[in-house]
Amino acid sequence: MIANRPWPALWAAVLALLLQVLAPASAGVVELAPDTGELALSPHVTFRHDISGAETVDEAWRLLGTDAFAPLPGGNPAFGFQDGAFWVHARVLNRNVEEPRWLMVQTYPLSDRLDVYLRYPDGRVKHQAGGDTLPFGERAIRYRHPNFLLDLPAGQPVDILFRVQSQSSMQVPLVLYTPAAFTELSRDAQFAIGLYYGILLALFFYNLVLWLVLRDASYFWYLFHISAFGLVLFCLNGLGFEYLWPDNTWLADKSVPLSISLALIGMHQFARVFLGLGERWPLGNRVSIVAIAAFVCFGIAAVFVPYRLITPAVSLAVLVSIVWITVASIDSVRKGYAPARLFLLSWAMFLAGTAIYTLVAFGVIPKNFFTEYGVQLGSALEMLFLSVALSYRYASLRNENERIVSEANVQLERKVAQRTRELRNILDQLEEAHSRLRESSRRDGLTGLHNRSHFHDAFERLLVASNQERRPLSLLMVDLDFFKSINDEYGHLVGDDVLRAASQRIGAVLEPHDALLARFGGEEFVAVLPGTDLRAAVAVAEDVRRAISSTPCESQHGPPVRISASVGVHTVVPGTVDDIEDALQVADQALYAAKANGRDCVRTSISAA
Ligand code: GH3
Ligand code: MG
Ligand code: MG
Repeated sequence: MIANRPWPALWAAVLALLLQVLAPASAGVVELAPDTGELALSPHVTFRHDISGAETVDEAWRLLGTDAFAPLPGGNPAFGFQDGAFWVHARVLNRNVEEPRWLMVQTYPLSDRLDVYLRYPDGRVKHQAGGDTLPFGERAIRYRHPNFLLDLPAGQPVDILFRVQSQSSMQVPLVLYTPAAFTELSRDAQFAIGLYYGILLALFFYNLVLWLVLRDASYFWYLFHISAFGLVLFCLNGLGFEYLWPDNTWLADKSVPLSISLALIGMHQFARVFLGLGERWPLGNRVSIVAIAAFVCFGIAAVFVPYRLITPAVSLAVLVSIVWITVASIDSVRKGYAPARLFLLSWAMFLAGTAIYTLVAFGVIPKNFFTEYGVQLGSALEMLFLSVALSYRYASLRNENERIVSEANVQLERKVAQRTRELRNILDQLEEAHSRLRESSRRDGLTGLHNRSHFHDAFERLLVASNQERRPLSLLMVDLDFFKSINDEYGHLVGDDVLRAASQRIGAVLEPHDALLARFGGEEFVAVLPGTDLRAAVAVAEDVRRAISSTPCESQHGPPVRISASVGVHTVVPGTVDDIEDALQVADQALYAAKANGRDCVRTSISAA
């Protein structure tokens, strides 16, 4: 058997009860027939519990045959955790002339101290010692289970007295093998062990690489879990003592509870991280953390507290942990977390393997290669599925991330578009404000007409255009007469109202003529009439003059005021004038002429000259 009772205390107790009912005991002389290759001694031995552990071998020999020795209850070779020592006796008669040497194997690797005494018919007694308190190298055969080579000469009954003393579960599952039978048995076992650890190693390195590449914590805890679980079986099988610490009997003793604690820390932590209990189930998360803390304590206690005290507590905690992890993963599945389904499936593999192993132990299902190695098979499948589950989880995390990123991108684009719209709006508003500002910088505040600086620019363009188009262009200079006296007489506010009224009247007259009109300064206005010759311009000027003096100007600040204006007209003939200042000066001279002529009249540059 590869795994001897992963959780010895509990199982041993249950097994003992069951086997007591199933198998009747028969003690006496055990005959090793010529065709026998393997024989389990349990049904044939008697035992004695030396509670003090102080009995000597001589005392034991003396008590043989008395009712101090009794058959194994139900033929079960496991006594559980007990004080003192157990003595076991069998009387063996070898009928096989070919095989004078037999190998006796204690098929439970964790016993501390084993003593074998052989008593031959001539009274000779031979003693051998074993158990994991002795260095591994002292075993008869370098094999994971303690073993002893027995000289059993054919035809001679030999008494075998076997003593076991151990902190671990007290067990005496003794089996006699011929060397040939043992070789065949160990071949199967070695193959199964090799296969199992081969799978574990492959999974380990595969996931190690994934962890190094992906740096996802759950991969680390998976590695931790399978390493520690592999170590548990390694220790339970007696392989740890055989290969890892053959000379360290202290570690051989502590390795099982230590490795179980490590494995359960890894398992709880892996389940916690994998199932994301922190986000999905805060209470469950706390339970797992408490469980981890408990196994940390067990691990530390395992170093200081005797094996037989710590192991029952650890075994119970393991059972509770198995139930808890099942509950946590079912909860995650019910909450719709897809990767938890694979997790639960792998966990079920492990539980099924363990259940099969238990059923074999109870004799409910027959023992064969697959059922006997149920724990190994189940745990190998579990780890394989967990590895798949990890990849699945990683893939779904990545998909989720991609979904979040693309959603964020869409949102970002939407935001950018919205911001762009807002920005465009602001720019439009700014542009409008700017053009209003530009417009107002071209306007005169009082009358709303164009101001002098705009007039200069616009006039220049008109002059260039009329030169190019070879069309005449006329200039009108309008100046209100005696305006100063209006101010003096009625005040500036009335003066302002008059200025506004005059500008409106000029504007109204010029409207149909597509003219450029501006307030030139003070009470003086200037207008440009493109495409208008002198005759037409004089007519317009007359209209302007008449419009201004037609009716008195109303004012909010004083009585209506009668006004008049003098107008100077100048027509620029295409190709003759390039400079606007010259043109303005000539028009001004015409205005001056009108003033000089008595005001309230129109004069042209020609008449002025
Ligand atoms: P003339 O017939 O020779 O043109 O005489 P005038 O009094 O109209 O001419 P003058 O140049 O002597 O006076 C112009 C006056 O216009 C002087 C100034 O106080 C007044 N004025 C200039 N700008 C404004 C203004 O914006 N509002 C007011 N109320 N008065 C203004
Ligand atoms: Mg004036
Ligand atoms: Mg003036």
